[in-house]
Amino acid sequence: MSADLTRLTAAELATKIHSRDVSAVEVAQAHLDRIAAVDGSVHAFLHVAGEAALESAALVDASLDAGTAPASPLAGVPLALKDVFTTSDMPTTAGSRILEGWRPPYDATVTARLRAAGITILGKTNMDEFAMGSSTEHSAYGVTHNPWDLGRVPGGSGGGSAAALAAYEAPLSIGTDTGGSIRQPAAFTGTVGVKPTYGGVSRYGLIACASSLDQGGPCARTVLDAALLHEVIAGHDPLDSTSIDSPVPGVVEAARLGATGDLSGVRVGVVKELGGEGYQAGVRASYEDALARLEKLGAELVEVSCPHFEYGLAAYYLILPSEVSSNLARFDAMRYGLRVDKGASAEEVMAATREVGFGPEVKRRIILGTYALSSGYYDAYYGQAQKVRTLISRDFAAAFTKADVLVSPTTPTTAFPIGDKVDDPLAMYLNDLATIPTNLAGTAAMSVPSGLADDGLPVGLQIMAPALGEAAMYRVGAAFEAARNAAQDGPLIHRVPEVTA
Ligand code: GLN
Repeated sequence: MSADLTRLTAAELATKIHSRDVSAVEVAQAHLDRIAAVDGSVHAFLHVAGEAALESAALVDASLDAGTAPASPLAGVPLALKDVFTTSDMPTTAGSRILEGWRPPYDATVTARLRAAGITILGKTNMDEFAMGSSTEHSAYGVTHNPWDLGRVPGGSGGGSAAALAAYEAPLSIGTDTGGSIRQPAAFTGTVGVKPTYGGVSRYGLIACASSLDQGGPCARTVLDAALLHEVIAGHDPLDSTSIDSPVPGVVEAARLGATGDLSGVRVGVVKELGGEGYQAGVRASYEDALARLEKLGAELVEVSCPHFEYGLAAYYLILPSEVSSNLARFDAMRYGLRVDKGASAEEVMAATREVGFGPEVKRRIILGTYALSSGYYDAYYGQAQKVRTLISRDFAAAFTKADVLVSPTTPTTAFPIGDKVDDPLAMYLNDLATIPTNLAGTAAMSVPSGLADDGLPVGLQIMAPALGEAAMYRVGAAFEAARNAAQDGPLIHRVPEVTA
């Protein structure tokens, strides 16, 4: 019974819970058992909140038993939360030693919305420190293993949130995407990950990496599940000044429409600059197969050119460190978490704490950003990068006059072995080649499983949409998912090897 419940989708679990076929407590317990059985091998979680999860599930059961309508379509369904959102009842570390032992005094808006929706929060997931990284190897608390091959990374920075899905520890999770941290782990684990339009999901209580790029979003094993979660967490929040004050796109309806499989009349832009040279052969093959499949569904494929995308990586790795160098100044040993009491002055205590509390990648970016912003260099680095950002937004705007959505492979390669790139920052950064333009432009994008490469590992198809154009993206994603499932005899994720303890 337990094992079966963890194999169901969030939508299926919700139906069973709301019809009182199973209780929310049974569902929570099944997932907690699964975590206990496999997380020693996967290490997706930094904190498991067993008791709180069961209590919250019991409240959902009591209210359903009393005949009250479910608080949301996902009431009673378990979820894993990236450890970068504040939780008043659980530690929040952002994967950093500097926040070890910190208990936030408040819930992030995303956390609060999950609770209000009756979703069971199972715990907090592992991530690269302050969301900087593409492998989860930069976590201060150990690496997360990819359930497809425990010797490989699950991607990052949200590797824990993606691995929890692929290991059947949770049917839903939340990630954040600053340069690809939802989409790249989704691609590496054969799951679905969505980066909403910037401002679509509140950043209140999301520990900042780069504030002009950060965006929380839903992760799941199916497009419909992601859509259901999207509608729970999205929407205007007066506590976030960059939150968009307009209706949330109807993504659930779009996903249901897409699942019927017809894409006639939809124009899919194939980005000329992405998916060619430099991409693993198996990734390219899967991408070509995906394009053929979209065409067969009735979509009209149009080639579009985004000539400035090639400067995206360079611009991002100036803008992000610049914002990081400012945002992380708040970790001063006085207000949160770690404090190394070494030295006579406040400055010495700060320096000693930051020396011990930050890992090498975080230090690298603080130094890079401080340099890029310094007087005499600002115009040459930060200023230039901002101009590139504008040019990339214009590339998107032009492309979206010709196409409703754009596509590319999500990543240049499949999941790489643990240890392969951790000492080579440039090789690590190249993971983000195809995902970064979307963050720079503030538009929306998702990764859906597009098959297995010749190495037997999952490949992701990236679908990009204009700002607030999520409905089209979910429609195409769901149609593609349905076609793939039909062609390969069920969802790809069912083929993930059983994790051995
Ligand atoms: N891998 C990218 C980086 O290291 C993206 C991180 C993210 O999206 N948070 O910055």
